Formats: sequence, C-alpha cells, structure tokens
Amino acid sequence: MAGLFVTDAAAPAQVAPARPNHRRRVGPLGVRARSDRRVRVVSAMSLWAALLLVTYWWDADGGIRDLAGWASTLTSTGRLTGLWSAQLLLAQVLLMARLPVLENAYGRDRLTRIHRIVGFTSFTLMVAHIVLIIGGYASAQWSAVLGTSWDLLTDYGGVLLAAAGTICLIMVVVTSLRAARRRLRYESWHLLHLYAYLGVGLALPHQLWTGQEFLQSRGATVYWWTIWAATAAAVLVWRIGLPVARSLSHGLRVTSVVPEAPGVVSVYLTGRWLARLPLEAGQFLNVRFLSGAGWTRANPYSISAAPDGHSIRITAKVVGDGSRRLLGLRPGTRLIFEGPYGRLGDRARDRHRVLLMGAGVGITPLRALAEGLDYRPGEAVVLQRFSDRPLFAAEFDVLRRERGLQVIFLPGRRTSARSVLGPAAGNSELAALRHWVPDLAEREVFLCGPDPWTNAAVGLCRAAGVPEDRIHTERFGW
Ligand SMILES: Cc1cc2nc3c(=O)[nH]c(=O)nc-3n(C[C@H](O)[C@H](O)[C@H](O)COP(=O)(O)OP(=O)(O)OC[C@H]3O[C@@H](n4cnc5c(N)ncnc54)[C@H](O)[C@@H]3O)c2cc1C
Repeated sequence: MAGLFVTDAAAPAQVAPARPNHRRRVGPLGVRARSDRRVRVVSAMSLWAALLLVTYWWDADGGIRDLAGWASTLTSTGRLTGLWSAQLLLAQVLLMARLPVLENAYGRDRLTRIHRIVGFTSFTLMVAHIVLIIGGYASAQWSAVLGTSWDLLTDYGGVLLAAAGTICLIMVVVTSLRAARRRLRYESWHLLHLYAYLGVGLALPHQLWTGQEFLQSRGATVYWWTIWAATAAAVLVWRIGLPVARSLSHGLRVTSVVPEAPGVVSVYLTGRWLARLPLEAGQFLNVRFLSGAGWTRANPYSISAAPDGHSIRITAKVVGDGSRRLLGLRPGTRLIFEGPYGRLGDRARDRHRVLLMGAGVGITPLRALAEGLDYRPGEAVVLQRFSDRPLFAAEFDVLRRERGLQVIFLPGRRTSARSVLGPAAGNSELAALRHWVPDLAEREVFLCGPDPWTNAAVGLCRAAGVPEDRIHTERFGW
C-alpha cells in the first residue's frame, strides 16, 4: 500500500484557514432520514394510486368491455396508454419542479435517474397511444391510416397542437439518449430540454377538450384540471419564483477568488441574511455570475465550506467556458442562484460514524461536511483520491487536530477505469479499504466524484458490506 499518506502534506500557501462551524439545529440524528424515507414511500404509492385511479376511470367508461374486435381493442388500449402517459408526463415535470419535499427526500442524483425512467416510459406510452388510436380509428386497416391521421389532426380539437407537442417531446427524448447527449454541450442539451414544457403544454388541450376519460365524470374532470394546474403552479413557484426571490433578497456577490491548485479556484461569496438561507454542508447551488457574456448559463457548484451565516465558498475546477469565467471574477460581481439542492450530508445520515470519500474536485462537498457534520474524534474518516496534489490539505489538517477527523490521502493516477483508490491500494482495493476503515460496514458513506469513479466506488462499498441505503452520492455530471 505504497503511496498512502496522512495529513502532514505541505500546505498550499493560499489555502484559507478552516472556518467556524455554523450548525443548524435540525433535531436528533436520523429523524430527517426517516421522514425522507416515508416521503419516498408515500410519493411512490401516490403515483401508483394515480395510475390505478385513471385505469379505474378507463374501465368505468367501458375500457375492458371494449376489448372485443380489433378496432375497438386498439382504440380502448390507445385510451389507456394515453391516460398512463399523461399521468407519467405530469409526474416527470413534478420530479424536476424543484419541489423541496422531493428534493429533500430523494436528492438530485436520484430524482434525475427516476425522471429519466419515468420520462422514457411516458414517451413510449405516448407513442403507443398515437399508434393505437390511429389504428383503432382507421378500423385496423392499413389503407385508412393516412386519411384517418389527417382527419384526427384537422377535425378533433387540440390534436394539431398535440402533434406539435409530440414533435417537441421527440426532440427532447432523442437528445436525451446517451449517445446523443455525449455529443452535445450541457447548455445546448438543457436549452433543448426546456422544449419538454412546451410539449407538455401543447399536449394538454386535446386531453381536456376531447379526451373521453377526462370528461366522463365531474370527479375525473376536477382531478385532471387540478393536477395540471398544481403541476404548472409548482414549476412557477419553485423553479422560477423561489430562485428569483432568493437571488433578490440575499443579493449574493463575490468577495474574492483564491487559487487552490493549478486550474482550481475557490470563490468566496457574501450577501444579506445568509443565516436565513436553508443551506447545509454537502449541498450545491446553481449559479449564474453576472459578469458579462455567458451569464445566462447556470453551473452547479457544491459549497466547499460549512455555511457560517455570513459567507459561502464554492471551489471549482476549470473544465470549460463556464468554469473558466470564474478565474476572471472581480470582487463585487453579483450572481443569481437556484438552490440550495442536494441531500448529501446530515439529512441523509442515520449513523454517527461516517466515511467521506471523494475523487479530484469531488472532494468539495466532503470538505464542507468534514467541517459541518457533528462527530466525535475518530467518528469521521476522509479518503481523498487525487492525481497531482490534494485539495484543502491544510484545512483537513486543522480539522484533524481540532476535531479528530481521520484523513487519508490517496495520491497517484488511477491504474484502471475500475480503480477507486488508485495505486496506494495495491493489489486488492477491498482489502485496502477494509484495512483503512475496518468498521466501514457500520458507517454512513458519502461519495462524490466523476460518474465512472462514483459508480466504481459504490460497487466497492457494497462489496465491503455497506447497505445500499447507507451509501449517498453526488455526481459531478449530467
Ligand atoms: C450537483 C453538482 C455539483 C457540482 N459541484 C462542483 C464543484 O463543487 N466543483 C467543481 O469544480 N465542479 C462541480 N460540478 C461540475 C460543474 O458543474 C461542471 O464542471 C461545470 O458546470 C462545467 O461547466 P463549464 O462550462 O466549465 O464546462 P463545459 O464545457 O460546459 O462542460 C464540461 C463538462 O462539465 C459537465 N457540466 C457542464 N455543465 C454542467 C451542468 N450545468 N450540470 C452538470 N454538469 C455539467 C458536463 O459533464 C460537461 O461535459 C458539479 C456538478 C454537479 C452536477
């Protein structure tokens, strides 16, 4: 296990000293984790219940009875797939509406993964709906398909709009396929993704004007109008209203930009009433610096120091245009922000003993956690993987001396794509990890780094016996 070293590395000259911990009173350990678990169960059950309810309405309107003969079977199943698709489409919008209760219970990583699964399922059902309805209305005859499609588009209220909405959604889905996403810049993908709102909005009228199951009973009509209105309101309030209100009231601005390592800078921010911002160590903000061209693009950055009620620090690696702009920021530059988001940290924590494991600039939220979490000497271990030099070495050293944090630095380039700990681990990463953190299976684990590294690290922790629900991740990718 050559190459491993523990905190006495030479401190980079410019590193700011560790700051006092500003701990929010959040109740006993595990209370929020348990209530988040309940929210996850209730929200999943609500979605299933909603799907069951619309299936019940479909059947009450003759859904199963109509499964007789080709044409009517096609139309009936087309209606059902349309209802399921509409329900999931709304769920998908809600998942990304930044609803605090969902953000807290799931965390962004998990919400994004669920949003993706729900999104692809809803899209597949929507395509099935279109094909089945056309097939049913064309009396299951190929020769009538074109004519019927034309009639549907021109004679039925809202269907033309829905067709335009479908085109928007097709564009969003195609650009979200992994192969296509790899070729796109994040900003371009994100801009295209916003067309999903237009797609959903355009699909709405045909359901409310002509959808049989939407209009068959007062209960069904009230239900659909209510969930559509509630979803739109959630987006307006939490995606737009709250960030605008917070940006205006806190008036964040840059106080200084400090180099941490080659290509890595810390940006210190201050503003009004920061103690009122519900920001915790481990969370991130989406920030737009108002410093000229490029200000419209938001980039997510984790805070790299525990919030102290007066200032906020983010630490960024320069990887592209957005992060390069940070190098030229001047004191006084204002910013707008969304967030805080993420549940990496105290909220997810059920245990006193924690392992904080990060790679590269992924150490940033873990640095904040090492300062912001409550722990006794020996209860918190930091494991930092890096290629050239560790980040925050001097600050970790202060935390080691003052709070009994155990710090293990793992230098050197990764030996393979599956390597988590690098050359310091020798032949067996599992044995090395168990050696450095013998009670690992009893700990809460927080991981942060690039996607492939995080996947490998999750696998390693699982192999070491850490249960799935005690492994928490933040991925620096999209
Ligand atoms: C939750 C979260 C927290 C993060 N915290 C930090 C941090 O504390 N420090 C840090 O250095 N980096 C962090 N990142 C990564 C950081 O957001 C990207 O490196 C940055 O946005 C790159 O922008 P760019 O214009 O410089 O590069 P680009 O050339 O636009 O992108 C380079 C790569 O960065 C990623 N990326 C770009 N924009 C985004 C975005 N808006 N959301 C997600 N990924 C993006 C993409 O994988 C892209 O391929 C975090 C990412 C996420 C998702």
